[in-house]
Amino acid sequence: MTRKEHHSLPGLLREQRIKVLLPLAVESAFDYIAEPPLPLPGRVVLVPLGKKQRVGVVWDDDSPDNKSGGDQDTVDASRLKPIADVLSVPSMTPSMRRFVEWVARYTMAPLGSVLKMALSPQLVTAKAPTQMHYYPTNNVPDRMTDMRKAVLACATETPGTVRDLAVRSGASEGVIRGLVKAGALAAQAIETDRPFPEPDPSTPGPILNDDQANAAATLTSAVTARAFSPILLEGVTGSGKTEVYFEAMATALTRPHAQILVLLPEIALTSQWLDRFEARFGVRPVEWHSDLTPAERRRAWHEVAKGRARVVVGARSALFLPFADLSLVIVDEEHDPSFKQEDGVLYNARDMAVVRAQIEGVPVVLSTATPALETLLNAKTGRYKHIRMTARHGDAELPEIKAIDLRLDPPSSNDWIAPLLADTITETLARNEQCLLFLNRRGYAPLTLCRTCGTRLTCPHCTAWLVEHRQHGHVICHHCGFNQPTPQRCPDCDGEKTLVACGPGVERVAEEVSRRWPGARLAVMTSDTMTSPAKAYALISQIESGAIDIIVGTQIITKGYHFPKLTLVGVVDADLGLRGSDLRAGERTWQQMMQVAGRAGRAEHKGLVFLQTYDPGHPVTDSLIRGDHDAFMSREADERQQAGMPPFGRLAGLILSGPDLGAVTKAGKILAANAPMAKGIEVYGPAPAPLARLRDQHRHRLLLKTARNMPIQTILNDWLARVKLPNSVRLRVDIDPYSFM
Ligand code: ADP
Ligand code: ZN
Repeated sequence: MTRKEHHSLPGLLREQRIKVLLPLAVESAFDYIAEPPLPLPGRVVLVPLGKKQRVGVVWDDDSPDNKSGGDQDTVDASRLKPIADVLSVPSMTPSMRRFVEWVARYTMAPLGSVLKMALSPQLVTAKAPTQMHYYPTNNVPDRMTDMRKAVLACATETPGTVRDLAVRSGASEGVIRGLVKAGALAAQAIETDRPFPEPDPSTPGPILNDDQANAAATLTSAVTARAFSPILLEGVTGSGKTEVYFEAMATALTRPHAQILVLLPEIALTSQWLDRFEARFGVRPVEWHSDLTPAERRRAWHEVAKGRARVVVGARSALFLPFADLSLVIVDEEHDPSFKQEDGVLYNARDMAVVRAQIEGVPVVLSTATPALETLLNAKTGRYKHIRMTARHGDAELPEIKAIDLRLDPPSSNDWIAPLLADTITETLARNEQCLLFLNRRGYAPLTLCRTCGTRLTCPHCTAWLVEHRQHGHVICHHCGFNQPTPQRCPDCDGEKTLVACGPGVERVAEEVSRRWPGARLAVMTSDTMTSPAKAYALISQIESGAIDIIVGTQIITKGYHFPKLTLVGVVDADLGLRGSDLRAGERTWQQMMQVAGRAGRAEHKGLVFLQTYDPGHPVTDSLIRGDHDAFMSREADERQQAGMPPFGRLAGLILSGPDLGAVTKAGKILAANAPMAKGIEVYGPAPAPLARLRDQHRHRLLLKTARNMPIQTILNDWLARVKLPNSVRLRVDIDPYSFM
């Protein structure tokens, strides 16, 4: 692209300064110059930066917090570089630009880093597939037939592919090729995306029961109102939440071009959800997740931007797709911790979905059987509408939950399944029903140690044990991925055959199952066995068709699945999530147990759930057994309120890391010495993180707690502006932390 010398006088009069935000870790937009007609805010442009050309977005500066211009504000116009090109992709909408700013301010991430989640240069610049379209030339063919005339008439009206012209004219493809040969039709390569098929909202859903009909009416009226409206749809597992929000989606889809975003946890594993959607709306929704090929990704992104992808279902990152006409947002399993992104920009997709809906002025539905305490508080204080469905649909009943006290009824040595659970498994199999054994631990055993010298196998790069995966003959660090073949000798004392596995993982429970029920058909379901959507789909279909008798799985299997023949759930270690001092340990265990219990007895047969525990009196376990759901959550809420913990107070984690322990320690001291002091503010730490070393980086943590009504970001900004940390130390701020590791 040729440009005028930009510091020539006539040029200066006409060229103007514009701001361009680049998808890099930068705090603000840079200045460039452009010739009129100036590209409007939102346009995607190509600009020079250093020796490279980069994709960016023309940014507007109307937000008061935007420190306009950054370093380049002082740069004289004559030294600014001109933009290189304006790309012909849809502009970033104003609401998307405000959303990017909002997320950056809230998470304290660089503005450009948030833009990067919304605008991937590869996606923007990737070429669409091309198709040959044929249009008529001035050459009249020597021989003219009626068919040839019909084809030429069609091509004159709208050029098209050979196939397309054949269909429209009724001629064979041979006729069209003949016209091409005769020079009467000429080809032109057209870049085009195949549009996604349109979902059909007119197929009626099932007849709703009264609770469902009321819930659906609330949702559909919010959709019709076309205004921001956050709604908590709380319903026990199997109450029909999916059917209810499908009604809202059907209503939204009746308006041409209206788009819907559905966020689900662990998107790759939701084949059942996709099937249900297809059964109701006739087509598959558009999927957005990490397993898409670059071509699928490019097509989805561009079709969403053009407003032609009507329903997008995705994991957290779908929140940053460039919807042209977003009209409804659904967050399913809103309590799920996987909505919190734990690397890069640290954000909670559930919370940011509400923000996006607010900026777009559309309803957002948070659906779950076990709302997060944050969401419940918002419902209680009236910020969110609250719909409750307390019974399963039809005759299905909620399962009965019982404890097995492992102190009184222990498994025999080397076993993990207690006699009562084992007997019930045998009975369930005899009735031709299915069992699920749940243990949230991948691999064979969480710890391998030497019988002779006591050495534990640990990761050379992290403060973590190596977990044996016997299936692959490896030991693996679940934090950094380090792995090596399982050693045959103790690395310390060189003892042979002295290494022993301690404690159970799913592989070990599976081994016990095959030993004790050799005839039963077994499936192990973890992120190690469900490595692709296809593998997940295959396993799920096997369970649905009754080709599996016993499932041993981690939390991956607890989410949303509906297996009518599954009637027994055994939780191998119900105390597992309660160890440690995580703020949400109780709440999470509660949610997880309710989810996994929710897999049992979803059809005509009643379900039974056993919790194997050493502490049946623990408040979480006790309330699960007694089934007093509200009591548990209100107790949990009281405790948090007393401690000023979220959602009644605000938290931010400060994580210091670096290769040099001395520097990390020093950074902690500097932060502590400058910590803010005021009523309503408390600072804990610094202290070594529970995961004190990760990927060879030493880690220390601080925690800032403020009252709920205090601007925690401003407090942090003031604090961090006062300190200068050693160069080798990296500081990450985690607003509303979920992980305290
Ligand atoms: P949830 O999402 O609350 O767990 P689902 O929407 O998955 O509940 O419903 C559980 C099961 O009951 C599904 O198989 C669903 O198709 C069925 N179901 C729910 N509501 C109805 C209804 N009104 N008529 C027929 N089947 C229903
Ligand atoms: Zn490691």
